[in-house]
This record gives sequence, C-alpha cells and structure tokens, in this order.
Amino acid sequence: MKVTNSIYTGMPTTIFEVMSQLARESGSINLGQGFPDVDGPLDMRQKAAQELLSGYNQYPPMLGLPILRQAVADANKRFYGLDIDPDNEVVVTSGATEAISDCLTALIEEGDEVILIEPLYDCYLPLAKRAGAIVKSIRIVPPKWHLDHKALEEAFSDKTKLIVLNDPHNPAGKVYSDDEKTFLARLLQKYDAYAICDEVYEHITFDGHAHKPLMSFDGMRDRCLRIGSAGKTFSLTGWKIGYITGSATLLDPVAKAHQFSTFTTPPNLQVAIAHGLNKEEAYYQDLASDLQAKRDHLATGLRNAGLEVIDSQGSYFLTTDITSLCENKGLPVDDEAFCRTITAQAGVTAVPVSAFYIEDQEHLPAPKQFVRFCFCKQISVLDEAIGRLAKWAQ
Ligand code: PMP
Ligand code: GLN
Repeated sequence: MKVTNSIYTGMPTTIFEVMSQLARESGSINLGQGFPDVDGPLDMRQKAAQELLSGYNQYPPMLGLPILRQAVADANKRFYGLDIDPDNEVVVTSGATEAISDCLTALIEEGDEVILIEPLYDCYLPLAKRAGAIVKSIRIVPPKWHLDHKALEEAFSDKTKLIVLNDPHNPAGKVYSDDEKTFLARLLQKYDAYAICDEVYEHITFDGHAHKPLMSFDGMRDRCLRIGSAGKTFSLTGWKIGYITGSATLLDPVAKAHQFSTFTTPPNLQVAIAHGLNKEEAYYQDLASDLQAKRDHLATGLRNAGLEVIDSQGSYFLTTDITSLCENKGLPVDDEAFCRTITAQAGVTAVPVSAFYIEDQEHLPAPKQFVRFCFCKQISVLDEAIGRLAKWAQ
C-alpha cells in the first residue's frame, strides 16, 4: 500500500485529548485541557436555542452572517480603535483552529520560511509544515518569557513569509509588551512579512495588562491576520466559532481556503455570538476579573502544595516549575511522568509543557520541568484539586 502523508502518519494524538481521556478514565479533576466548567451567558444560549427552533438552519453566507461580521468589526473598533469593513475584512470560521489553518494554507508557498515561537500551541507546527513551510523557531524562556530581540532578528531572512504570534500566550500566560511588538513590527516591515495573530485570549488579561493587537501598531494594519475565538470570549468552547480580521487583499485567499475547508459555520450559533459581542463593558470586565480571582486562588494553592508558580498575565493557564516538588518526593523531573503520576495518585490532571515544543533532532530538547494547570474552573473545584495535590505532596 502507498504511504499516507508523512506529517500526520504516526503522529501522536494531541496532548489535550490524551490528558482529558486519562482524566475521564480515572475520574480525576481535569485541570489539563483548557475549557471552563460553567457554560457561557444564558441569554446567548437561549438565543442560539431560539434560532435553532425558529431561525434559519441552512447554509449561511460563506464569509459568515452579516450580523456577526458587523459585530466583529464593531468589536475591533470598540476595543482597539481598528476600522474594519465588515463586508470585506472579516471571515467567520469553525473555531480559531480552522482560522489558523486557513491563514497558513492561504499564505504559505512551498519553501517559505515561517517563524514560530516556542512554547507553541500544538497545531501551528503540523499545519505550517503541511502547507510547505520551512519552520524557524525561537524560544521565550520562563519566568519572564521575554522575546529576545537578537534571536528574533536572526530568525528573519528574505525568505520569511510570516510569523505566528500568540498573544496572550498559551501556555506562558504572557502578554507581549509594546516594546516587543514594536520591534517585531519593524522586522515584519523590513522583511516584507506577515503575522498570523492568534489572539483567542484577547479578553482574558490580568493586572491591568490590556491586550493590544499587533495589528494596531504602526504599519501593521495590512500585514496582520487577527484571529479571535468565541469559545474563549464567551466560555463556550464547544461551539467552535472563530473570526479572522484582516485587509481585503490578505483575507481574500484566506476566504478561499475557508471555502474548501468548512465553507460555513452553524448560523444559529453565529447569531448568538453576534449578540454576545455586543454585550456591555461589564461583561468583559467580569470575565477577566473572575478569571483573575481564579488564577490567584489556584496559584496560592499550588504554591502551598510545593510548586513554583510562574506569573500569568493572561489566558486560562498557570505554568509551574515542578523541580523542587519532584526532588522532595524523590521523583524524576519529568513533566509528562509527573502529569500521569498526579492523575493516578492525586486525582488531578495537568498538561506537560514539553508538549508545546518542537521535537526533532534539529531542535534543542524541550525543558522537562514545567507543567501547565488550567484555572477556568469553579472555586470549589479548584479547592478540591488543591487539597488533593497538597495531600499527595506531603
Ligand atoms: N489558539 C490557542 C492559543 C488556543 O489555546 C486554542 C484552544 N482553545 C485555540 C487556538 C483554538 O481555539 P478554538 O477552540 O476556537 O478552535
Ligand atoms: N486550547 C486548549 C488548551 O490549550 C485545548 C483545545 C484543544 O484541545 N484542541 O488546553
């Protein structure tokens, strides 16, 4: 039999699914995969239900329902001062994952160089490679996760087509600074390159770290494709609705990639998301402050259990250093083994951060001392998890 595609053949299942499956099997508290345990706004779910029963249930327009494209354009203006034409500069997708795939597929030509920043969200690498890219990677390093200007500059060349910028960052919980984004913007101009901006956690930032899209920096309006996810903004991850904002020229081939991947996204859900995006300021403030309180709660608990907790400025996640806890317990400092052990022995599941690194001989080995915990859970659930971990750690 002829061989199947070398990128996907033999590829392991994504770590999020692996750990969630382990958690389901063992009945452990799942602080691995990032999803809230309380569903998003009731009025949005009611709106979707109402649309399902008495609204339109056939193919909506390929680019997305006008009402949602208008809401996305309005949100860009309201939150970031970006003027977006809803008819030509917005595409609605089936989740940010589809959006990332469409953008990479539409922009990359065989042999183009693509810059990825490790740790990286797991779909970037296979999707970029499948599109024909030669991947150049650089690293941000804890605890500060600073983007080193020199390393970034060295990653660029005349062959650079694009960079993928995940801001706020999963799993680092980093919000890129103005200085970092200004420097990146200069390089993108110098090398005539693009940025695919994965901004799914745009409304989940803490301690006054307001999100500022790269697209809003000088010279970046027409070089960026900005991706949002209703799953994250409205705590409805299972709905899988994403949206891409970009100049008409850049978005045109992306829309063509979308037309042959999913073509459309359920219309009833789109109406409900449009309703959600128009929510008043208080909704967005509450989302961030609720998650900030949960971050703090989990951080305190994890520290008490003996883990070193790295600052998180945004996203659903806290990264921890397991070194001293492992040494105290006589365990090897191995994030994957640690995640499996705490699932089995403590009844708490997390995700090894080494899964966010590129694994091949050309790359430095992944660090093995970091583990990611998700805090978008009810306080009572976090308390139970903290209690179990503390008991196990003793
Ligand atoms: N990008 C990042 C950084 C993520 O954490 C996730 C996971 N939710 C996604 C993209 C995918 O989002 P969606 O579920 O909307 O496809
Ligand atoms: N983004 C989620 C996370 O980082 C996972 C989404 C998925 O499983 N595809 O945990």
